[in-house]
Amino acid sequence: SSTTLNGGDEDNINVVVRIRPLNEKEKATGEREILEFPGKGQVICQTMTPGQKPKVFSYNVVFEPAATQEDVLEYSGVKRLLEMAVEGFSCTAFCYGQTGSGKTHTLTGPPGLVERGTSPYSPEHGLVVRSFVYLFQLIQERPECHFILKASFLEIYNEKVIDLLNPGSARKPLQVRWSKESRSFYVENLFTVDCEQLDDLFAVLEEGMRNRAVGAHAMNAHSSRSHTLLSVRVRRDLRADAAITCSTHGKINFVDLAGSEMTKKTNSTGKTLEEANNINRSLMVLGYCIAQLSDGKKRGHIPYRDSKLTKLLADSLAGNGVTLMIACIAPTRSNLSETINTLRYASRAK
Ligand code: ADP
Ligand code: MG
Repeated sequence: SSTTLNGGDEDNINVVVRIRPLNEKEKATGEREILEFPGKGQVICQTMTPGQKPKVFSYNVVFEPAATQEDVLEYSGVKRLLEMAVEGFSCTAFCYGQTGSGKTHTLTGPPGLVERGTSPYSPEHGLVVRSFVYLFQLIQERPECHFILKASFLEIYNEKVIDLLNPGSARKPLQVRWSKESRSFYVENLFTVDCEQLDDLFAVLEEGMRNRAVGAHAMNAHSSRSHTLLSVRVRRDLRADAAITCSTHGKINFVDLAGSEMTKKTNSTGKTLEEANNINRSLMVLGYCIAQLSDGKKRGHIPYRDSKLTKLLADSLAGNGVTLMIACIAPTRSNLSETINTLRYASRAK
């Protein structure tokens, strides 16, 4: 329960920050960098007004631009989430940040890497593939248990749930329902794949990423407006003695959120306004839930039911789970206001 998890010095929500390096274009145009990293988990950010004192933010872990994909696996705390998923807890790792800040890079690597079917051991792979490898390592260390892994991959676009493993569902979005039996929300008719080996998990990721790319092509800037959720359910059966088997049901979610700048695009009209509001809703409700949860003293009503995303993440945000937020930011002056927004959102979540 949440009391157990809060009892120690480890929180239900951990926040880390990753700063991407300058890209070629930014180097070529001589863009100014506005961040400093004095250590101790601090990020110092210049402000809009010249001459004003820079703002200091602090976090558990800061990944500076030189950090590798392997560093993020090792030091983000995601390994603890995977260990807990194997023990029967629901866990979520999500990336938050403006478009172009490195969310997808952090989760799945540079564009096209997964879609091309690159070997799972390539150094460019992101947190998802590395986590799959670690998960199988954990399972192999437990030969006394029998594991069943089931994976699904969906996208939430404009508050509609689309199955990334069954692209036909784009025409008929899936429903999110409450299960009395498991006391959690689920997606009706969502395709789930039994994964017996690492390659099976990798195939799920590859298929979903390909289908997402097709959707993105049909609709301009689609990927910055949608959330993706890759989920691996981990069932563990342990034979206690000849007549008794114990089971645990854990889960790990990986979420690539819509660009955080979407929350402010409210001056648009028509379809785009509806989109903005819906994206706004999921991101805002998520932020609100997380702020409520991390403020241990006054746990009021937590509005999970107010968006599709928070319904599906509720069990990992609430009592029985652990959540890792990876706040992604760009290093340059032209991104200053979005960077400050992300740094603030991330410190609220701490
Ligand atoms: P987002 O998903 O937040 O919109 P991306 O992950 O697509 O952003 O990143 C934008 C670009 O920057 C991509 O080409 C990506 O490969 C590159 N990039 C992001 N983070 C890094 C990093 N840590 N190292 C190298 N390249 C990166
Ligand atoms: Mg992206």
